[in-house]
Amino acid sequence: MKAVTYKQLWQFAKPFIRSQKWLFVTIFILDFTTYPFDVLLWPYIFNLLVEIFTRFEGDRLAAVAALKFPLALWVAQVLYVETAARSMGFLFAKATPKLQADVRMVMFDHIQRHSPAYFNERFAGSLANKMTDMTTQIDLILQQLFWPIVPALSTCCLGVVILGFINPIFAVVLALWMILHLTVCFLSSRSVDRYQQRHAEARSGLLAKVVDSFTNNFAVNLFYRFTEEKSRIGLFQKEEREKNRAAKSYVEKIRCAFSLFHFMGVILGMCGTAIYLWVQNQISTGEVVQVFSTMWSLGILLWMVGSALPILFQSFGTVKQAYQVMLDPEDMGDKSDAKPLEIGAGSIVFDNVSFQYSDKKLFENKSVLIRGGEKVGLVGYTGSGKSTFVNLILRFFPVKSGKISVDGQDISSVLLESLRKKIALIPQDPVLFHRTLEENIAFSSPHASVEGIVKAAKLAYCHDFIKSLPEGYQTKVGERGTKLSGGEKQRIAIARAILADAPILILDEATSALDSMTEKYIQESLHALMEGRTTIVIAHRLSTLSRMDRILVFNEGKIVEEGSHLSLLERDGLYAKMWKMQVGGFLPETPAVV
Ligand code: ATP
Ligand code: MG
Repeated sequence: MKAVTYKQLWQFAKPFIRSQKWLFVTIFILDFTTYPFDVLLWPYIFNLLVEIFTRFEGDRLAAVAALKFPLALWVAQVLYVETAARSMGFLFAKATPKLQADVRMVMFDHIQRHSPAYFNERFAGSLANKMTDMTTQIDLILQQLFWPIVPALSTCCLGVVILGFINPIFAVVLALWMILHLTVCFLSSRSVDRYQQRHAEARSGLLAKVVDSFTNNFAVNLFYRFTEEKSRIGLFQKEEREKNRAAKSYVEKIRCAFSLFHFMGVILGMCGTAIYLWVQNQISTGEVVQVFSTMWSLGILLWMVGSALPILFQSFGTVKQAYQVMLDPEDMGDKSDAKPLEIGAGSIVFDNVSFQYSDKKLFENKSVLIRGGEKVGLVGYTGSGKSTFVNLILRFFPVKSGKISVDGQDISSVLLESLRKKIALIPQDPVLFHRTLEENIAFSSPHASVEGIVKAAKLAYCHDFIKSLPEGYQTKVGERGTKLSGGEKQRIAIARAILADAPILILDEATSALDSMTEKYIQESLHALMEGRTTIVIAHRLSTLSRMDRILVFNEGKIVEEGSHLSLLERDGLYAKMWKMQVGGFLPETPAVV
């Protein structure tokens, strides 16, 4: 875990607060002024009342006129405090949802702009939890600051001045007690964030495991592993519970120390001094009542600060843990001088490219030329690097050395958006959003017309099945598209690629889940789509590659053979071996011309 400083947190929060500067300044001013008025005026009114009641003991009716001033003061106080407090509430209700929404959007955007490699290493549930932690805890921090921390500080400062007018000794005792109390509170509470960071990390991890288990619920159901999954989650739960307990116990230990301070300050310090001065006849009975009730209220406020500070630092701990994700550097950003990709014929060149996944070497000094408009098939055993090859063209992963160019432009130096817009990929394992079918198809081309979407769906042979659904194109497909069959999902992905209308087309096992009849129809659409585009087709079913200009045969990351279907058969190498196995096993003697 990287260490996050308060300065970093402030730099992060500053722009969000600045965007609503006047709202926060108004809330602060109201907050700073309202509570002293509320807490300190009461004891003064009590003082006046006691003085009046004791002075008019003989003629009680005469006291009524004298009561007018303190009672008017009381009404004014209640009116001001209530109006200010309610206004503050409304302003807070306006400011914090926007603040939370702004923070959420910035975090979401930062997280989503990472490569698949980044997401491969992390749990989506944990990332989402960090966003939630950040937004809820920022709200909690503001709540703690605006009540009771800021009002308590302003009230105590004014309290020192007011009690100083009664007798300077009160000002000295109160000031000393406040300084001591707040210093101890602050110093002891700061270490709470350390405990809380550990707890928040454990909680995020736990949530990620829960989401992972729910996502794989099909497998859990299939193998009836409910008990095992519960035990597995229980293991992570144990760690979370331990860290939660440690954080909470620490807070309680701190509170014990605060209680001791509270007792010493209020009862022994201030009230003792007041009684002593009253006995010495240095202050009146009304003033004793004012000191007692002021101290009672200030004592409660300071005690509340003592309770709030650990919560504040707990929140800071959680925020620091959540902020870690903002420190993850962008791993697929554009270079400062990146230019849009200018596409011509659509040639793709691998020039001495080496690539490896962490410590697993896959490509070494690979050089390949795919001419503009050429149709190239990729075949090879599973795990031989075909999908990786096309993923590198899309810059999903950076190459270790060498370069990949499209129409002579190094893809690492072009704007990523322009590169991705020029390439349509039908992935091996299409995953859909839990949105409507229309939205899923239009994802590649958000401004597409309804007619355009329907046309693409017809070409991908999914229009009929979509129409047969009760809600047609407005049907939601379930998380990751779980409500559709494998073949239906593939056809939606094909429609999406057709709609993208990109000059480079990549099909990674695009029709592997379809029955032979549907596949035959779709191949016609796809071949029409391939016209005039550079196309790479990955297929295990070799018959689907018969119309390719050239076939590259992959084996353990290397291209071991290349040529047309017939020349590769003549060569009698790996391709011919794979072909014979398929023909013998499942396919007719000659390639089906589709
Ligand atoms: P298939 O025919 O099964 O789709 P493929 O030829 O497309 O296989 P790739 O997906 O390119 O194979 O994978 C090549 C190798 O790289 C495999 O051994 C695989 O385990 C590994 N690999 C793939 N993706 C990753 C990843 N994100 N991180 C680490 N290793 C990976
Ligand atoms: Mg693959």
